[in-house]
Amino acid sequence: MSFDAASVAAGLAAVRRRIADAGGEPDRVTVVAVTKGFGPEAPLAALEAGIVHLGENYAQELVAKAAAVGDDPAPVWHFIGGLQSNKVRLLAPHVALWETVDRASLGAELAKRAPGAAVLAQVNISGEAAKSGCPPEAAAELVATLGDQGLDVRGLMGVAEAGDLDRARAQFGALADLASALDLAELSMGMSADLEAAVAEGATIVRVGTALFGPRPPR
Ligand SMILES: *Cc1c(COP(=O)(O)O)cnc(C)c1O
Repeated sequence: MSFDAASVAAGLAAVRRRIADAGGEPDRVTVVAVTKGFGPEAPLAALEAGIVHLGENYAQELVAKAAAVGDDPAPVWHFIGGLQSNKVRLLAPHVALWETVDRASLGAELAKRAPGAAVLAQVNISGEAAKSGCPPEAAAELVATLGDQGLDVRGLMGVAEAGDLDRARAQFGALADLASALDLAELSMGMSADLEAAVAEGATIVRVGTALFGPRPPR
């Protein structure tokens, strides 16, 4: 599949309009281009369109794309997928923000391989068994532990239940309340289908794939 920077730029402009229409300040919401499932052409087109924050779900894909994309301009990689401890070492040279830290054992591995790394604690805001993230009631303790491990806990990340925007908005609102109770600034929430609900509840980072690149190839 090939991408051109102009169509990604048009997608980005549409995403920024949606952010503004939802009451957000487009300059204050970081758009992370999620390129999972696509080859290096997707991050290259994103960079050419002026998006430096790139999100990846799979360790091998991120490492391969980082090698293919180079560093001019330098991408800011966000790891947004389920993270296994044994992948941390491979990812550490590349990842700028670890968005899916959901357990203390992962924090310990990060502290060892990437001391002081910037992380988000992932919270399971939908309560669905298939979703990762620590339970909301365990978030305070996880955040404290990650801080004790020397990690730079910037905020919280969550994925809402798909399909019902009112329900998604309530889940995002609960995550925002949690972040504010824990005095955390960053809130990574909202994807292509539900970014308005997330922005309305104060998202500072949205993670968008489909809205920039179109449908992903089947895995
Ligand atoms: C795939 C993915 C996204 C992007 O999804 P789109 O619906 O294509 O915008 C965002 N966040 C996470 C955690 C993802 O896995």
